[in-house]
Amino acid sequence: MLVTYSKNAFFPLTTTCRNECTYCNFKKNDFKLMNFNEVLKLAKVASNNNCSEALLTFGERPDVYREFRKNMKKLGYSCFIDYVASVCTFCIESGLIPHTNAGVLLTKELKKLKPLNGSMGLMLEQAVELECHINSPGKDPKVRIKTIERAGKLEIPFTTGILLGIGESEYDRLYSLEVLADINNNYNHIQEIIVQPLVLRGRRMVKFEEIKKIVKVASKMFNHVQIPPNLFSLGEVLALIKAGANDLGGISPITPDYVNPNNPWPSISKLKLFLAENGVKLVERLPVYDEFISRGVYGKMTEKLVLRRGLK
Ligand code: SF4
Repeated sequence: MLVTYSKNAFFPLTTTCRNECTYCNFKKNDFKLMNFNEVLKLAKVASNNNCSEALLTFGERPDVYREFRKNMKKLGYSCFIDYVASVCTFCIESGLIPHTNAGVLLTKELKKLKPLNGSMGLMLEQAVELECHINSPGKDPKVRIKTIERAGKLEIPFTTGILLGIGESEYDRLYSLEVLADINNNYNHIQEIIVQPLVLRGRRMVKFEEIKKIVKVASKMFNHVQIPPNLFSLGEVLALIKAGANDLGGISPITPDYVNPNNPWPSISKLKLFLAENGVKLVERLPVYDEFISRGVYGKMTEKLVLRRGLK
């Protein structure tokens, strides 16, 4: 049995965010953003550690705040997406393939980032309105679905998924997977589905058996189902693989999971060994899946890296 992962470095460009999700572990709203020295320094360490992916994850539309715009201006930018595009360029020049999670985006913004990314991502979370998102305009499911569809129209390899334990019902979970499957039937651009439990103060907010059930259903609907290995014990990772998960997502040898800061990444070598003892081969992949590479579907500015680092 083959299971994949991507070796990455997490670039938390800013923890400033316009949304106010009640369960957030990430937002600080200090109006800061990574400067290019910090980006280049981290990119160099990542490259020296043989990472292939620059995971750019950050708060949504931080530029709604005047103080953030002032700090961005000091770096020479009046448009946040232009700043993100420059970070992508620095990452590519340092030998990393960007995978940007920028929250909801307009078509013109996706167009700007498309050539600079191997793939991009946006968690749907749930396709229904929930109490925890009442002050989060970017979590309106209609707006998120629109972004995923826009990415499909632009043929951007896309990672999305559902977040469990945020107040949704079992029906909502299945409905959310169906919504994503429908979008994928139309555009064929969803490369993987993440099934992620919410973890708050070290406690998973959903029962393991419920997660397993959803992984099972998702694996019948999508080619690749990802589970984050730092949110489970090794035994649970194995049980989820047996239930149908076949990807462990980005694992970083150098940066923490800033979204779940209390859950360190397992060591890749220990994970490999444990899985091998249980008949599972863990192999590295790029942030864009082989199926998309063979179709030539990835950001054109990443082409040299994708073809050079292609792991086939
Ligand atoms: S969108 Fe993300 S960063 Fe922003 S408040 Fe919600 S969970 Fe936090």
